[in-house]
Amino acid sequence: MKVMTPQTIEAVSDVVCDLCGGSTTKGNGFTPEFATLQADWGYGSNHDGEQYEIHLCEGCFFSTLATLKEQHQANQTISEHAAEAPSAFKPSRKPS
Ligand SMILES: [Zn+2]
Repeated sequence: MKVMTPQTIEAVSDVVCDLCGGSTTKGNGFTPEFATLQADWGYGSNHDGEQYEIHLCEGCFFSTLATLKEQHQANQTISEHAAEAPSAFKPSRKPS
């Protein structure tokens, strides 16, 4: 026999973008669509013990990605050993 007890369960219904403050959910029935910039700095780093978790909406993510690509490009023009943009800047999976 199962003994049932009513319980309250918390679930994530939305994730707010930490950059623009916008919702990452398009409405009822949709799950939040967001990116996470995460770091957990440990011993030996300059930020030992610091943790970061920044949530970005789709627009802010691609804006940030464009900024990172520009920064990488600028670093390449300074460096003698120019390298192609890292694969991390490209989607690891695309819809088929
Ligand atoms: Zn945003």
